[in-house]
Amino acid sequence: MDEIELAKQTEICKKCKNIVVGKGNLKADILFVGEAPGRNEDEQGLPFVGAAGKNLDKLLERAGLSLEDIYVTNILKCRPPENREPLPDEIKAHTPWLMKQIREMKPKVICSLGNHATKFFLAKCNPDEMNKQLGITKVHGKVKIIEIDGMEIKLIPLFHPAAIIYNQKLKVEWEKDLLIVKHELSQKILKV
Ligand code: URA
Repeated sequence: MDEIELAKQTEICKKCKNIVVGKGNLKADILFVGEAPGRNEDEQGLPFVGAAGKNLDKLLERAGLSLEDIYVTNILKCRPPENREPLPDEIKAHTPWLMKQIREMKPKVICSLGNHATKFFLAKCNPDEMNKQLGITKVHGKVKIIEIDGMEIKLIPLFHPAAIIYNQKLKVEWEKDLLIVKHELSQKILKV
C-alpha cells in the first residue's frame, strides 16, 4: 500500500469532507508543518484557512513572507472529529505521506508549528518516540539539523499560530524566531 492509501484507510479520512494536502509553493525553501485540519480546513480542502490560518497569514506578512516563499501542510491530512488531538495510530498512518511530501519538495528549512509537529521531527520522524521529546516552549526558535532520506534539513520549531491568538507574548517570540528562520535560510547547508 502506498503512503497516500495508508492515510486514506484511517477512519478520520473516511469521515472527513476533504483531504487537506497542502498549499503554497512546492518549490519554496521553507515547509511549515501544522497539526491537523480543523472545521474550516475540512470544508475548504486547504490548510490554515480558519482563525489560526488568518493569524498565520498576518504573522507571515509581518515577516515579509507569502505563500510564494513557503509550502504549508499538516501532520494529519484529515480532520479529527471535534478537533481532538491526533491519536498515535493516526500519526503513524498519516506521516508517511508527509515524508513523501518532504522527499519531493526537498525544503532547506522545516518550521514545525506547535507541539505535535515539533515532537514528530525531534523524534527523528518516529511516532513511538514523540512522547519523550521536549515541548515547544523549550525548543522554539532553536535550530536543529535533522536528516531525512539523506537530506540535511534545518528544523526550526515555532509556536502554533492558534496559541498566539490568545497570548500576545508569544507573538514577540514568533517574530524573533522568524528572524532566525530567515538568517538560517541565508546560510549554506550541506547535503549528506
Ligand atoms: N491548525 C493546524 O494545525 N492546521 C491547520 O490546517 C489548521 C489549524
